[in-house]
Amino acid sequence: KEEELALGEELGRRAGVALDNAHLYQELQDAIKTRNDFLAMITHDLKTPLATAGTYLQALRLQLTTSGRDEDPGLKAILGNMERTIHQMADQVQELLDIARLQSGQELELARRPVSLAEIALQAVEDFRKTARGHQLRLRIDQPEPIGMWDAARLQRVVANLLSNAIKYSPEGGDVEVSVRLEGDANSGVGVLTVRDHGIGIPAAELRRVFDRFYRASNAKGSSGGTGMGLASAKQIVEQHGGTIEVDSKEGSGSTFTVRLPLQG
Ligand code: ADP
Repeated sequence: KEEELALGEELGRRAGVALDNAHLYQELQDAIKTRNDFLAMITHDLKTPLATAGTYLQALRLQLTTSGRDEDPGLKAILGNMERTIHQMADQVQELLDIARLQSGQELELARRPVSLAEIALQAVEDFRKTARGHQLRLRIDQPEPIGMWDAARLQRVVANLLSNAIKYSPEGGDVEVSVRLEGDANSGVGVLTVRDHGIGIPAAELRRVFDRFYRASNAKGSSGGTGMGLASAKQIVEQHGGTIEVDSKEGSGSTFTVRLPLQG
């Protein structure tokens, strides 16, 4: 009898804990949803004034050109910097909007047009040459180059994410190799891009999880800031193109990320 009572009490306690957990889980879900809605709302609000600023800047450039003042070196530099900054901000806002979409399980609207994967890689490598701290960035492009129906801005972001990780998670002066090649024929083949570093690598048991939202591997947490969203966002973009992204890595000796994109999507 006593045993039964004790068992009854234990079951009652467990049921109570389960209810508490269910309640906590619901609260957590609500908090996450509020955060996502907030992110989406703010980002959306930023988009319009940014577009307006861009339009004013275009008008300014036009006025300067028609009055012949656009050759003034000082003005030219300022205008160029402002255009670049606005462009960067617009890209960042778009990235946040995409992340908000990813959070809520919505698809991206891809702006597909003929794009050269080699050009995207070249652009990214050049951008990072300016900021890399002593890393040796190498680019290898095999001919013929893959040209596919892709969203250039989104793919640019994928490559930038992979390159920034390769730099962030490998020591100064380390080699980072980017390669681009075509697999199959120029109509129905696949564009393949790899980014390889010789850095800290990823522990085998965590390899699959690095593409999860907010996941940061145990050996990376101490290193300079990261959000754990870069690879999740890259995976979303690549998969919406009908492609795949994979990683091959060994802790302590480096990582290779491979993106495969069907030319026709
Ligand atoms: P983060 O903002 O943390 O870099 P990512 O989504 O880009 O987020 O990457 C997720 C995690 O995957 C990183 O925190 C790190 O643990 C691991 N990772 C990604 N790229 C590399 C790399 N090149 N070398 C080692 N670990 C990496």
